[in-house]
Amino acid sequence: MMKSNRNQEVFKSFIKADSLMRFSVFLLGIIFLQACQNFTEGSTLSEKAGDHPNIIKLKGQSAEFTPEIVKLNENVYVAVGYDGSNASMVIGVDGVVIIDALRALGAAEKVAEQFREISRKPVKALIYTHGHEDHTGGASAFIEDSKDVQIIARVGFKDELQEHSPVEPILKQRNARQFGRDLLAKDVINRGVGPGNTSSDRVGKGYIAPNTTFNDSVFLTIAGIDIELYAANGETNDALFVWIPGLETLFTGDNYYKSFPNLYAIRGSQYRDVKSWGESIQKMNTFPVEYLVPGHTRPLSGNAAVHHNLENYSSAILSVYRQTIDAMNKGYTLQQTVDSVRLADSLINQPNLQEFYGSVPWGVRSIFLHYVGWFDGNPTNLYPLSSRQEAKYIIELAGGESKMLAQLNEAVKEGKYQWGLQLADYLLQIDFEPTIVISAKIKLLRNLAAQQINAPARNYYLAYSYEMEKNSMEPN
Ligand SMILES: [Zn+2]
Repeated sequence: MMKSNRNQEVFKSFIKADSLMRFSVFLLGIIFLQACQNFTEGSTLSEKAGDHPNIIKLKGQSAEFTPEIVKLNENVYVAVGYDGSNASMVIGVDGVVIIDALRALGAAEKVAEQFREISRKPVKALIYTHGHEDHTGGASAFIEDSKDVQIIARVGFKDELQEHSPVEPILKQRNARQFGRDLLAKDVINRGVGPGNTSSDRVGKGYIAPNTTFNDSVFLTIAGIDIELYAANGETNDALFVWIPGLETLFTGDNYYKSFPNLYAIRGSQYRDVKSWGESIQKMNTFPVEYLVPGHTRPLSGNAAVHHNLENYSSAILSVYRQTIDAMNKGYTLQQTVDSVRLADSLINQPNLQEFYGSVPWGVRSIFLHYVGWFDGNPTNLYPLSSRQEAKYIIELAGGESKMLAQLNEAVKEGKYQWGLQLADYLLQIDFEPTIVISAKIKLLRNLAAQQINAPARNYYLAYSYEMEKNSMEPN
């Protein structure tokens, strides 16, 4: 988070540079434009010629959301891949229960139609596993008259959403970057736990507020189905999971999907209660689950497989949590803590723990900041130099701007992309040869994107690089 803020500051300082600088940037733009085009072609070619192993894995993950109505057992159907998340139908004696409602009303209508072809029984209840729009926006597609339907969620539902935040404008921009909403189709692989492009047909327009809420747990019988609902803080503080004992089926909401969990979202999110998240998975694993329906990615069946997946998921989350707490108590700084935490070898290669969506170091940072705030304990960081002053000193130390630029070019050539980004930011901070440095930074971001297994990071790198390119081409 600190890093991206800093990049942003650098970028903003560039776009606000004085008009003389802007004019010279404009003149140099022609050369730059040519270079960019060459680079874009080059990067596309290299990705086609031989994808990085991480990109091959990320592309493989797309099979998790190929559109399909999955018949999980006689009574449970799961719509996968019609939108960014899953919606499910449970068939009872004299009605059906819907669990989660997708994001776009247009996508939800298609699923509702398919569900009605399977069962004409009336919808008796809709359960929201949590308040995120990708699970709530299409509700009206499933419901004719909400007076006749129980719409169930936790107390405090949707309390922590983006639109309630004073920093909503920047959250919106970061959201678009994380999900690659403005990227060209050729650049989008997927969103980690959802397809790259989702329906924009009446997004959120079908939302209906809950008419039944509960605190810790509630047991209901709806349409002849015994349903147990449990509060389960994790990705959100309004999350719940659904256990249907008669069908041995568990609906996890977003506390489980096939990826290392997104313990922190780079679009900017409030603290996600990592400890409770791990414990909620442990609790799910106390039930004799035969069928598991995640909030995203395909459902699973078979008790052994389900148990194994839930077990390694909770182990991974709680291990990251405990390692972070231990490192903090040893007095490690934020970066030292990040450097010290890793998943055990027995977890690192598990298919459901690949970092397609969440990322271990992001989770560590989030836990650290949650418990102690911004000060990492090192007095050096009580009153650090301004970004510009630090850049000046570091560049002097490197032997001047030209030498630093040579180092930057070297980093690009040698594939030291992260180091290159850090050098580029120093040079941007003092406005040295911005056209050349921006061009290098764009190249570095795209090279990082071309080897990222994590879809949000890849999308963010690319989106930011296109924003830089666009801004550097505009004369004002
Ligand atoms: Zn979701």
